[in-house]
Amino acid sequence: MTDNPRVALVTGSTSGIGLAIAQRLTQAGYWVALHSRASSVAGLQEAAAMENTKYFQADLLDEGARKDLIDSVYTHYGRLDVLVNNAGESSVIPHDDLLAATPDIWHRLYELHVVAPWQLVALSEPYLRAASSADHPASVLNISSHAGVRPKGASIPYAASKAALIHVTRLLAKTLGPDIRVNAIAPGLVDTPLTEDWAAIREQWIRDAPMRRSASPKDITDVALMLTESAYLTGEVIVVDGGMNLL
Ligand code: NAD
Repeated sequence: MTDNPRVALVTGSTSGIGLAIAQRLTQAGYWVALHSRASSVAGLQEAAAMENTKYFQADLLDEGARKDLIDSVYTHYGRLDVLVNNAGESSVIPHDDLLAATPDIWHRLYELHVVAPWQLVALSEPYLRAASSADHPASVLNISSHAGVRPKGASIPYAASKAALIHVTRLLAKTLGPDIRVNAIAPGLVDTPLTEDWAAIREQWIRDAPMRRSASPKDITDVALMLTESAYLTGEVIVVDGGMNLL
């Protein structure tokens, strides 16, 4: 391994937004650790198809697997410059059906969208600090949601977990600078496997959003690369929802 390439771990990067961010980072010269929950054929195929990537499996609901993931990535590459906390899932529950939003669902989404990203940052902190320089401070990018900013979303537990991730982003930006910058993106509706059945919501976006469409993953990666490459932005939350938050 040469000293030069910077290394990024993108969680949940075998499909959707995470895959698009991983592809964009490799194009920008990063070596990228791909990751997903299940050791999928898709993950291995993506890794084989993209240069300078290696695939790692970890269920981020499992505390021990989070530690193994960071250990394995660092053991393989010997450095870590960028952590993208993208892995997530949704549960569609009508907001007025309070009993349907069970404690299990609350715990699961909070664990996946808040506790797991937190722990990955904590475990990565020494490696990120070691890789950081004034020209290239290390970077954490959290993928939240427009549902974490506006009182909307697939379910209240989902929206609340993504709102908590935004607050954690700002708190960590205060805590970890100047070595580590911490930012978030809050996407609106993005066309990915997660939302392929959401036809009615997509219609809403086409009808009402100022940009008259849902996002493609590429719309998110433009912003992700900008936040990753900046030497100065920290504590920012960029809403990428075609203006839907204005309504
Ligand atoms: P996706 O279903 O295409 O990808 C989700 C990824 O997360 C997969 O790689 C999956 O393996 C991983 N993942 C899920 N649960 C995991 C677990 N327990 N352990 C490890 N990995 C796990 O979804 P996407 O639409 O690309 O979503 C990516 C992120 O963007 C999520 O955090 C999601 O909440 C967020 N988001 C998506 C949208 C949207 O409209 N698609 C909007 C706002 C925010």
